[in-house]
Amino acid sequence: MEKNIAVIKGDGIGPEIVTEAMKVLDKVGEKFGHKFNYEQLLMGGCSIDVNGVPLTEETIEKCKASDAVLMGSIGGDTTTSPWYKLPADKRPEAGLLGIRKALGLFANLRPCVLFKQLSGACPLKEEISRKGFDMLIMRELTGGLYFGKRYTEEKNGVMTAVDTLEYNENEIRRIAKKAFDVAMQRRKKVTSVDKANVLDSSRLWRKVVEEVAKDYPEVALEHMLVDNSAMQLVKDPAQFDVMVTENMFGDILSDEASMITGSIGMLASASMNETSFGLYEPSGGSAPDIAGQNKANPIATILSAAMMLRYSFKMEKEADAVENAINSALDAGYRTGDIMSDGMTLVSCSEMGDKIAEFI
Ligand code: NAD
Repeated sequence: MEKNIAVIKGDGIGPEIVTEAMKVLDKVGEKFGHKFNYEQLLMGGCSIDVNGVPLTEETIEKCKASDAVLMGSIGGDTTTSPWYKLPADKRPEAGLLGIRKALGLFANLRPCVLFKQLSGACPLKEEISRKGFDMLIMRELTGGLYFGKRYTEEKNGVMTAVDTLEYNENEIRRIAKKAFDVAMQRRKKVTSVDKANVLDSSRLWRKVVEEVAKDYPEVALEHMLVDNSAMQLVKDPAQFDVMVTENMFGDILSDEASMITGSIGMLASASMNETSFGLYEPSGGSAPDIAGQNKANPIATILSAAMMLRYSFKMEKEADAVENAINSALDAGYRTGDIMSDGMTLVSCSEMGDKIAEFI
């Protein structure tokens, strides 16, 4: 197969970690007989330096014309970089919001995996972390409280602020479908998280999710209230496969879930639209403190590339090969600085990429 990948390396450690992901993808191409064509595009601070704006029409159009987008990270040191002297809509992060909107990316997928080799970094009790976990949080990204009508006004002499949580059935249906589709490629369980004992929007959410579930008889569906979900995540994360939820609940729960894995350098993510198109990027930022030093952990970006293979290109065995190669590199004791522990071998960003590529 031949696939066209739009590549946004971005700022800070972005170019270093994306280069390693491309190295691994090329190895996958060689081994499985695929050709990956890359088109490198500017976005974020590097685009401000060249074009005066964080996102250009050209970048948007070339992303739209591609089969998927692989991204590093954008932004700089928010206290010292001249990019942060610009108005908010001209700063690097505006590029990220702009591209998500332009590409219609409404579903955010965040896998949360505890690698057994790194279980020592998990802040949970050993009896819980010993079991390991491998779940994925699917967060609705373009609706709900963050996009609803909001205002602050004085009512009878009292300042009053209002935010609105609105979802229509179509918005719920498309994210529910995405969750069931992804569950079909995993362990076939969906936990839908809501607050249906209180909120109307949650009651509609539950009803629509149940309708969608009828088309996926192989997938087990359970509903869980958001407060209970927050507790269950630290009590027994191994019970979850795919957790689907609205924007704000997902914002909070995905950060809670990422904490229990122990390292930001291991956290992949994807944002998808209704088709198989997606933008794949590590969850962390541009890490200006270690940029340009060949110290960053490229694994989150390489795992994001594996998600691209699995969800956009439907290359299951190739995605498995990447994940297995990461496991092999960790089993062999290779560690970047952020995940280093006694008795392990410290490697640079590019050496970690080399090792993972070798294990493909
Ligand atoms: P950050 O994630 O960049 O860094 C937080 C800490 O984690 C730092 O100590 C950093 O060294 C470390 N870290 C992050 N990724 C790592 C990796 N792959 N390997 C090893 N260590 C890693 O968060 P921040 O410092 O709050 O933000 C820095 C810049 O990144 C800001 O401009 C911010 O706006 C931007 N940012 C961009 C994205 C994105 O592109 N999607 C996301 C978050 C933050």
